[in-house]
Amino acid sequence: MKQNFNLDKLIRANVKNLAPYSSARDEFTDFDKEMIFLDANENPFDTDINRYPDPQQKQLKIKISAIKNLSIDSILLGNGSDEVLDLLFRAFCEPNKDNVITLPPTYGMYKVLAGINTVENREVFLNEDFSLNVHEILKTQDINSKLLFICSPNNPTGNIFSEENITELLNNFNGIVVIDEAYIDFARSESWIQRLSEYENLIVTQTFSKAYGMAGIRLGMCFASSKIIEVLNKIKPPYNVNELTQERALNVLNDNNKINNEIYSLKVNKEFLFKELLQVNWVQKIYPSEANFLLVKVDNATKRYTQLIESGIVVRNRSTQPLCENTLRITVGTKEETNRLISVLQNI
Ligand SMILES: *Cc1c(COP(=O)(O)O)cnc(C)c1O
Repeated sequence: MKQNFNLDKLIRANVKNLAPYSSARDEFTDFDKEMIFLDANENPFDTDINRYPDPQQKQLKIKISAIKNLSIDSILLGNGSDEVLDLLFRAFCEPNKDNVITLPPTYGMYKVLAGINTVENREVFLNEDFSLNVHEILKTQDINSKLLFICSPNNPTGNIFSEENITELLNNFNGIVVIDEAYIDFARSESWIQRLSEYENLIVTQTFSKAYGMAGIRLGMCFASSKIIEVLNKIKPPYNVNELTQERALNVLNDNNKINNEIYSLKVNKEFLFKELLQVNWVQKIYPSEANFLLVKVDNATKRYTQLIESGIVVRNRSTQPLCENTLRITVGTKEETNRLISVLQNI
């Protein structure tokens, strides 16, 4: 349990003083009643999408709340987790004053969002074995450090960070610890959402873009204390999750078997790809992965990347990231795609 955590001190003053925009759909929400809606200047002719969507995505949250075993007021949904992450900057980081800490090699959006929001990004590299440099992270923080981004499983390295290290950071970081769990459904370890009641300074983000197979609908999830969610609700655009997205997300959540089968087959394909990559003579190292991709160290990443492109396969060259010299990040595809990749690898 984190001692003396004071959320109020972390919220930007303008956000604290803000009266949020109140939409027509905030003021009257009882859609089940047979009413005539003349309050939002919508077109009345029914197309299924002529009405504004529910700004609080109630039905979807009820479903997510049951699956995640969390109360509805601990959930915020966004237009992808990228929107959720941006909201965190806007809620807690004062431009030109506050800072965040990120841990390269990691997901590139944290740094971009810091730049967009004019917030200093303090980088503490992972250790050589891709573990957290807890000591250095705690040394790097100061009173203006508002957010610490921990991506676990980490993109692009694929590893999970130890519970002991994360706990130490939760107990000793001055601001809010954000754990980005975009790949958690592929991992063997439990989500940190189980621990939200213990840590008021914890935010967990997840997404529909990876395991759920819905990158196209743009839906991200944020889990935190109801106090934090309340702050984010104040600043989110009123209709940030559109009607079509809410419907498609509900459909996929009603078909749990499909997702679980896909996750299982991607894990099988990953193991298969791992074994096959070991046979490729220009592959030097394959990092263990708790995600749906493999980070692979090769002799010459640019050369191999280009050869793969010429054979019709696009992977990600991660060589510009610290500690990732000459690495390629390969997403695990279908069985057919994996077979094709392997045959191409054997021929170059
Ligand atoms: C893919 C990914 C996301 C997903 O972002 P969305 O905006 O929800 O699509 C978030 N975090 C990490 C680390 C990712 O790799």
